[in-house]
Amino acid sequence: MMRTARLSALLLALALLAGCAPGSREDTVHFTAMDTVIQLSVYGCDHGEETLSEARQLIQELDGLLSTTDEDSQIHALNQGETVALAQPVQALLERALALCADTGGAFDITIYPVVRAWGFTTDSHQVPTQEELSALLARVDYRQVEPQGGTLTLPQGVELDLGGVAKGYASQQVAQLLREEGVDCALIDLGGSIQAIGSSPDGDPWSVGIRDPRSDSPEDYAAVVRVTDQAVVTSGMYERYFEQDGVRYGHIIDPDTGYPVDNGLASVTVVSPDATLADALSTALFVMGRDGAAQYWRGREDFEFVLMGEDGSIAISEGLEGSFSLAGEQGSVSLEVIRR
Ligand code: ADP
Ligand code: MG
Repeated sequence: MMRTARLSALLLALALLAGCAPGSREDTVHFTAMDTVIQLSVYGCDHGEETLSEARQLIQELDGLLSTTDEDSQIHALNQGETVALAQPVQALLERALALCADTGGAFDITIYPVVRAWGFTTDSHQVPTQEELSALLARVDYRQVEPQGGTLTLPQGVELDLGGVAKGYASQQVAQLLREEGVDCALIDLGGSIQAIGSSPDGDPWSVGIRDPRSDSPEDYAAVVRVTDQAVVTSGMYERYFEQDGVRYGHIIDPDTGYPVDNGLASVTVVSPDATLADALSTALFVMGRDGAAQYWRGREDFEFVLMGEDGSIAISEGLEGSFSLAGEQGSVSLEVIRR
């Protein structure tokens, strides 16, 4: 929670450095939803307050539909085996998410929930499941079993959905659309570290978004800054949710092939894209793919760039970020690799 608030503080500070004109109108709201701290800021909008309250309502509605834990949510009902007439945003996100599951070859899989629960990440009472338990649960994991019929869905017995890997990105995309419709051309949407920038900062410079140093316990330590205009910047970090047992660190991103938390040397993955839903899903998927798999996947597409931070402190960026990425502070010793097409 704190990390998010501090990230927001840094964003604002950087926005000010970038020249947010003193005196230009700024409206901001903070609240908690989707299990995280949310900050929305719009600049130079004469109906900013009303617009932000609409945006807040929109996020709360989406949270109410998509939450795995809220007993009134559509996802909860689906996971109970009920047949659900999907609300329009749930149907839209589900279709998008299923397409991303297929496109990533199942590295992203929205049916991973039973495995996430077995590791205790849903309740914070963490444990290492037995191999037998994992094998049994993995038999229930396969996004291809999710087949909406028109606007209606019934999940097969034992299959459960978790849209947690895309929900924040989708919500920030929906908020961005709402703000643009309201004529806002300068705003920052921060959903627990999923950032969506609208336009550039008020003086015309790009927004500067800090990327946390994944090896530091302090959420205030930034390893890098990326400058963006009209883009989402979404990071999945090993530091977000993990537990340690017998000296091993287990993180909250699960490899759907093994049922084990990803352990491939990556400490965080950041995806930069105009499409926040894509960025959110891919920050999880590239983590599962690992460095080489991520690079190969990126070479096959044109719609995103990435930053990979390793547990050894190394950093790799895709070449599209070369002009907009910079290391924070005195990081002369960091190895920075540019991955090319
Ligand atoms: P966060 O929600 O912590 O910002 P992510 O966007 O990286 O992080 O999503 C991680 C969440 O997605 C996990 O908490 C879990 O619910 C779910 N998840 C874990 N592994 C996968 C996976 N391989 N595919 C899809 N969702 C996953
Ligand atoms: Mg994600």
